[in-house]
Amino acid sequence: MLATGGFSQSPEMIDEYGPTASGQFCYAASGNVGDGLRMAKEAGADIVAKDGVIGFRGVSPDRSYRASLGVLVFYPNLYVDEKGERFMNEANYYALMYEDMVENESDEFYSIFSGEVPAEALEEGVEDGCVVKADTFEELAEAMGVPADNFLASVERFNELAESGEDEDYGNPVIATIEEGELYALTVLPATLGSFGGARVNLQGEVMDTDGNPIQGLYAAGEVANGQLYKSVYPASGTFITAVFVLARDAGKEAAMSIGE
Ligand SMILES: Cc1cc2nc3c(=O)[nH]c(=O)nc-3n(C[C@H](O)[C@H](O)[C@H](O)COP(=O)(O)OP(=O)(O)OC[C@H]3O[C@@H](n4cnc5c(N)ncnc54)[C@H](O)[C@@H]3O)c2cc1C
Repeated sequence: MLATGGFSQSPEMIDEYGPTASGQFCYAASGNVGDGLRMAKEAGADIVAKDGVIGFRGVSPDRSYRASLGVLVFYPNLYVDEKGERFMNEANYYALMYEDMVENESDEFYSIFSGEVPAEALEEGVEDGCVVKADTFEELAEAMGVPADNFLASVERFNELAESGEDEDYGNPVIATIEEGELYALTVLPATLGSFGGARVNLQGEVMDTDGNPIQGLYAAGEVANGQLYKSVYPASGTFITAVFVLARDAGKEAAMSIGE
């Protein structure tokens, strides 16, 4: 029974089966290096992978997204890319924000904080080097290393939309104006929570070979066998855990019943 999770902690396997996430960090268990997929393949399994991941975003692999600094990525503030331009709905579902970030192709993104801000966490970020601080928009652009004229235009448009009460450009329902004073920019990176791709299985959890026949005595469930469940974008938070429990229960039952057959 293979239940080894995904392969998102193996850079080589990400390059092979999920290149969208090449070079990005992942919050999954450090043991998720694709052992199950490799063993299944060696046993003749058909491998299904469509270059998908659970797309997310984060500050760094050392900062849990539940830590005071990590959690800042959830604020629906203005986000700009390396050109200083706004590019997405900052209140969107996280896997879709990840898609926008990947499509944008910037290496880093910046979430802009002003007004009433979680100052303690941001100051921690300043010490860590993942947050920069300034009093004016020009100084903040310089500290981020983005073109000031683009950034000023992004802020001006963002404030115009916030004042109008409707984000006609991207549909963020909760935008608020950004004012000079105490300004912070948090560096945010595309990151993942897991991988898509693994051994093809039937409804009993048996691993299938490349001719479409079950491999006797070999079962798989969970992230190691999720290649058939998704295309490339993670459709909804919670679907992974649900699939893991439901399919693993069935696969475990089938495997136990097969003993002695
Ligand atoms: C931070 C985070 C938040 C998430 N939030 C959600 C959520 O809210 N909702 C949701 O549906 N999904 C969520 N997910 C995804 C979900 O947690 C995983 O898809 C799910 O845990 C996969 O279950 P699994 O049993 O297949 O693998 P895992 O839970 O990854 O377990 C596999 C285990 O096998 C171990 N292992 C690997 N190789 C070997 C080996 N050779 N020998 C022994 N052990 C080995 C690994 O170290 C790991 O501990 C989240 C993932 C992360 C990382």
